[in-house]
Amino acid sequence: MYHRRTERLVVGETMTTTAAATRSVDDRQLVTEVVDRLLADHPPASTPARDFLGAQFDLGLAWVHFPEGHGGLGVGPKLQEVVNARLRAVKAPFSGPRNPIGYGMGAPTVVTHGSEDQKRRYLRPLFTGEEVWCQLFSEPGAGSDVASLATRAVRDGDEWVVNGQKVWTTVAHLSRWGMLVARTDPEAPKHRGLTYFVVDMHGPGVEVRPLRQMTGEAEFNEVYFTDARIPDTERLGGVGEGWHVSLTTLMNERVSIGGGVMPRGGGAIGEALRLWDERHKGLGGPTEAVLKDRLVDLWVKAEAARLTNIRASENRKVGTPGPEGSVGKLASAELNKRIYELCIELMGLDGILYGSYEMIRPTHTGFTTDIRKSFLRARANSIEGGTSEVMRNILGERVLGLPGEPRVDKDVPWSKVPRN
Ligand SMILES: Cc1cc2nc3c(=O)[nH]c(=O)nc-3n(C[C@H](O)[C@H](O)[C@H](O)COP(=O)(O)OP(=O)(O)OC[C@H]3O[C@@H](n4cnc5c(N)ncnc54)[C@H](O)[C@@H]3O)c2cc1C
Repeated sequence: MYHRRTERLVVGETMTTTAAATRSVDDRQLVTEVVDRLLADHPPASTPARDFLGAQFDLGLAWVHFPEGHGGLGVGPKLQEVVNARLRAVKAPFSGPRNPIGYGMGAPTVVTHGSEDQKRRYLRPLFTGEEVWCQLFSEPGAGSDVASLATRAVRDGDEWVVNGQKVWTTVAHLSRWGMLVARTDPEAPKHRGLTYFVVDMHGPGVEVRPLRQMTGEAEFNEVYFTDARIPDTERLGGVGEGWHVSLTTLMNERVSIGGGVMPRGGGAIGEALRLWDERHKGLGGPTEAVLKDRLVDLWVKAEAARLTNIRASENRKVGTPGPEGSVGKLASAELNKRIYELCIELMGLDGILYGSYEMIRPTHTGFTTDIRKSFLRARANSIEGGTSEVMRNILGERVLGLPGEPRVDKDVPWSKVPRN
């Protein structure tokens, strides 16, 4: 671990300074120096990925805004991009794709609501990808209205006994830990009777079954809990505070899904441009003109969304994003679908030749180089992480300040609310 308050690093050596002098160290300079040290001591080309990521965590470069000793340096979150850009340039391993839900949603939730012990226990193996995480929120009767969920957790001494069913649980089959929200007080109104746990996905009473998607893959799962036991020490936040803790996960989910900043002309729109160049450019005629018009229209929208995401990340002064993350989530979901529709059209007949519907249990989510698979997978973008309709509601109410939807069950005990 690198202690910024007691040491000042000068490439290759460490020197102790007074606390007052250390405080004046420019944070950007500090981050740059620590990256230099990481790359000098652990050259990415010759260091196994897990060792590299472990060293990155220990030096406080995993999430620079996290506290020292927990993968961070306690500096502003924007400086993470300084780290990421340097590491990208030398093709260093990246934690996110190994454990997307843990990296993007689990870690911020643990660091915000976890005890010191929990932070120490969970964050490092989460970052290195040794322990994958999944999100156990949605249920067959509770998706958009996740606060109405019915999975029960009943206290039994120092443990909780969990019964119920979760659904659409991405990478549950690969996970060691799950972020579970369960009902601990059915007599409280729905948002107030919830508690948040970290559950051992390998423990007795936890059963994971595959759910197959239209891509042919089974990236997500149903998860059944039958008298599964969770020690109280694995509770995240207070009893009855599960909704409050969940909001940290959900806000970060939207940013992880929709808040990424690609280079200009990168990502899905980059694929469309490539297909245009390869198959249509210079052919002339009305078809070319119409397709070009659509391509340019989507390019402009993609660029506007990209710039909006840059602005949102610049404005994010603290680690936990606010409801404005819903803008990026909504825009990227709707754009992705439209861009991949255009890609398929640009591919002509090749676009309908789907390679294989073979049932695969993927080892990661989202990324594929097959445009046809991306087209099918993109349909889920406007559902996962909150539907586009729900994003519009959040934007209307919490960003634009428009009147809220009528909520008749808000103050009614959950047990008295009719359920189907
Ligand atoms: C690929 C994928 C991965 C996922 N991974 C996970 C995961 O790892 N963990 C997890 O917990 N969940 C996961 N989900 C579940 C996801 O969060 C839910 O599917 C989503 O929140 C919608 O819930 P629902 O499917 O129950 O639909 P419903 O909530 O039943 O909604 C049905 C329709 O009604 C609309 N609707 C609902 N309420 C409103 C409203 N108030 N105003 C306007 N329209 C409304 C919706 O927009 C939708 O069109 C995943 C989903 C997908 C597709």
